[in-house]
Amino acid sequence: MTVIGLDDTDSRKEGMCTTYVGHSVSEELQEEGYTVERVLLIRLNPAVKHKTRGNAAIAIHTSAPVEEAHRITREHVENSAKVEDERTHPGIVVYDGEPDNVEKEISQFTQRAIREIIPLEDALQLIETQDLYSSSMGKGRGRIGAIAAIGAWSSLDDWTYEYISYREPEKWGTPREVNEKSVFEAADNHYPNAWDTVDKIEEDPVCVPHAPGPILYGIRGDTIQSVKSLSSEINSETVHAKQLFHTNQGTDVHLQTVDHISEVSENSAYKVTGTVTQKPTTKKGGHVFFEISDGEDSLNCAAFEPTKHFRDDVRNLRVGDKITVCGEVSQGTLKLEKFAVRELVKTEKTIPTCPSCARKMESAGRNQGYRCKDCSNTAPKKGTRVVSRELEKGWYEVPPCARRHIAKPLIRGDFDDAIHPHR
Ligand code: ZN
Repeated sequence: MTVIGLDDTDSRKEGMCTTYVGHSVSEELQEEGYTVERVLLIRLNPAVKHKTRGNAAIAIHTSAPVEEAHRITREHVENSAKVEDERTHPGIVVYDGEPDNVEKEISQFTQRAIREIIPLEDALQLIETQDLYSSSMGKGRGRIGAIAAIGAWSSLDDWTYEYISYREPEKWGTPREVNEKSVFEAADNHYPNAWDTVDKIEEDPVCVPHAPGPILYGIRGDTIQSVKSLSSEINSETVHAKQLFHTNQGTDVHLQTVDHISEVSENSAYKVTGTVTQKPTTKKGGHVFFEISDGEDSLNCAAFEPTKHFRDDVRNLRVGDKITVCGEVSQGTLKLEKFAVRELVKTEKTIPTCPSCARKMESAGRNQGYRCKDCSNTAPKKGTRVVSRELEKGWYEVPPCARRHIAKPLIRGDFDDAIHPHR
């Protein structure tokens, strides 16, 4: 088998996208008589600054010989990648061997590319030591994602699917014609096997992208059957082509679990537990900020405005709550993707009220308790009051309209606590 890896053919301006190039190469290989076993869509570290939209790379598992696979892919990338866009730096890497049995160095590279920021030199070194076919345009930064995609089938074990319907090329850039009612109905029919098709609260058909480009809609889910059936139930303009991708979307594979906040560093994503030390406050733009601490270090956390009603869950946190937070850390702040309530503060200290006049007592001085200055009643210390809490134990998440491609929706299950999914 031959494994083709390709990346960074997106353009912000022109609207071409890596998945479409992957689809076209796959079609061409089959037209030339080769088989295509599967096409992978691999989401890499979302924190990479110079990423193309969504930081995606493609791998194609095919029977075509290495030289032939390389030639066909190169022709397509040269025709399709918007290399005149100076931020696009396509890379192609071709591997001769079985995708489920790549060298350890390559599968480890995949793990790093999903969780860290990798310098191009590391990719070039691997191409040399593993003697891989490669070609590139621009600065060729796409070779990082291309190698990561080659290692994915060996490296990852949680797989989901995306079934993408593409627009007729002459329609690219024009408003999409998709019947929203049919999208919401189809989404209901296949939930939760297919997820993040729509956002019911925001009334957003999230499977239909906003940016110009070839994608009409993309359906994500846990089974091939569900994404294909759902897709077929949507009424829309003529679909030009469809492509099934095996993906690491919705898997949380980018998260690194750490025991201490001191292990957190910039531009990676983490799962870490601490106690809320600063009440959530809403700042300019509607962004909500708070702080957690593990007793030694503290970490700023944020729920930004686009996370919509998730911010209400965050605002319901109180100082003293023990929580586990997940998200990418940049500029010293963890951008929340989800959090789990582990322990809730259930009581709060109150200033005693006078049993005679029912007014609040006043402090009688440092360490001298409280007294009512009118009635002379005293109380030795603050009282305790039960507080009612909106939150329950377990996981809360951003809604589908704000979900990062790689983040795992709670509805997929297998979490370490109760779940409160947003749909
Ligand atoms: Zn009184």
